[in-house]
Amino acid sequence: MAARPPGEASGKSAARVLAGGLAALALLLLCPASWGGTFVTFPESWDVGQAFAVSLTSSAEYEDPCVTWLGRRVSLDVEPGGEGRISYGLLGSYVRDVKPGDHPLVFEFVQRGQHIRVTGTVRLLPRKYPEEHLKVSPKMVFPAKVDQARIKREAALAAAAKRTMTVERLWASPLQKPVRSIVTSSYGFRRVYNGTPRSPHAGTDFRAAVGTPVAAPLAGTVILTGDHYYAGKSVYVDSGNGVLSLFFHLSEIGVKKGDRVVKGQIVGRSGATGRITGPHLHYGLCLAGQYVDPYPLFEDSVTGMLKRMEREEIVTE
Ligand SMILES: [Zn+2]
Repeated sequence: MAARPPGEASGKSAARVLAGGLAALALLLLCPASWGGTFVTFPESWDVGQAFAVSLTSSAEYEDPCVTWLGRRVSLDVEPGGEGRISYGLLGSYVRDVKPGDHPLVFEFVQRGQHIRVTGTVRLLPRKYPEEHLKVSPKMVFPAKVDQARIKREAALAAAAKRTMTVERLWASPLQKPVRSIVTSSYGFRRVYNGTPRSPHAGTDFRAAVGTPVAAPLAGTVILTGDHYYAGKSVYVDSGNGVLSLFFHLSEIGVKKGDRVVKGQIVGRSGATGRITGPHLHYGLCLAGQYVDPYPLFEDSVTGMLKRMEREEIVTE
């Protein structure tokens, strides 16, 4: 990547290093000059609705790393690793709100007193999530009497929780499943009532009898609990860098705002509270305000994901 400090460097790199497998090994052996330096890793393309990892790594000290994606600035942590120091991010797009196509991804950090900004592009690819078309009585589509003031109040609380941005990375992959059970409704699924589509499912539903203990898939801090009209008894956990876990329809909430939880800790018991027809656990993963499909992250690791992506060197003067 050409040096254009303190301004913009482009997403395409002349000195591109393929990370992962034999390609990386061969390049490292042939090009010892590529040891050290500063690199960013992000996908060139990714499916809409799916989470992806990004990283910034450097042999030299840097401060205040952040990445801007879909209008949100995500603060990153600085940890030992990679070239010397590394910052990890987990990003994605909510299939309801984001259109496939090219979207800018901007890394920023301060190094040797210089503000460095690098812009890349991620092409979001279309992905078809399952749909179910139903013909129903019109009064089922629009509930007759709804407490609008309560819904508005709770939506504001959820929106504020979704804006939470803390620097310390408490999340680590893979995620632990919140319950050991089958998925009854996957992310992205949408019902179409009389031709009118509902919002796509913003999380994963697990089959769970009332009272099943619910484990935190990630460590974090409880930022919101409540009994909400749609979501029922709910818990929101912040794991840092904009990574939030949401647990809905609980019968019991086992934590309170401000509590620190470790991965696997019980945050409550599943139930059937809120506007649902039967007991289940809804687990939502929100990344910098975007609801993504949590499921692949129960198996995939962030380091594994990053190894399958290309990384680009940032050259500064
Ligand atoms: Zn759900």
